[in-house]
Amino acid sequence: MTTSFYAPPTAFHGGRVVLPEDEATHAVRVLRHRPGDEIVVVDGAGGWHRVRLDHVDRRRAAGTVVETRRGVGEPAYRLSIGLGLIKQRSRFETFLEKATELGVAEIVPLVTERTEKAGYNAARAEKLLVAAMKQCGRTVLAALRDPTPLAEVLDDASPALRLLAHEAAGPHQALGTVLARHSGAETIRVLVGPEGGFSDAEVGAAEAAGYGVVSLGPRRLRAETAGIVVAAAVQLAHP
Ligand code: SAH
Repeated sequence: MTTSFYAPPTAFHGGRVVLPEDEATHAVRVLRHRPGDEIVVVDGAGGWHRVRLDHVDRRRAAGTVVETRRGVGEPAYRLSIGLGLIKQRSRFETFLEKATELGVAEIVPLVTERTEKAGYNAARAEKLLVAAMKQCGRTVLAALRDPTPLAEVLDDASPALRLLAHEAAGPHQALGTVLARHSGAETIRVLVGPEGGFSDAEVGAAEAAGYGVVSLGPRRLRAETAGIVVAAAVQLAHP
């Protein structure tokens, strides 16, 4: 698989694309692409484009789209993971990279009762998401939402399958079993708590909002591990 370049949909006009400056620099100065070379450009919205470069200078690279395919490298489902904000930034960034590789469409940082003061660098996170998308051969850029209060996420009943991971759930509520029972669901949201877990009231509110409580096994996982396990389980349940 050739490494692709990234240009957002706004960089495409009338069958042409102008690469963003950092991507152009990489194409021209590092990979030494020249006019006439063909490259692959993904647009983060599901588009895969074969592009013939025709204008190249130190800071600019532009070309003509010669072929477009849709949805290359994308799963048949749309998975949104709500993850309690993590105090340690590097752990959250690990999650972003692995979630991208595992086909996650949306990440919603959750503000919950036991969320500790935490944040992340949005610009760094965006760069990481783009790099991971290109590296693994996806065409959709995972959407990283602003931190959102849990109650607001629970109000959104649009995902067909809504689950909440909770250590207190038993083996009869194993995520794998639940996913097998709902194999037709195309839109899925799974919530993972912060380091301190969800409170009983939060679990109750989620159940009232149509969320099923699921177990990820007999060990207490760190939040980012739990998020990665969720993404892997959903991927493996959809061959
Ligand atoms: N409440 C725990 C730790 C929370 S772990 C404590 O403080 O002792 C962070 C989150 O990961 C949890 O809220 C839950 O959503 C998820 N998680 C971790 N291990 C899990 C497991 N074995 N089953 C289901 N969810 C789990």
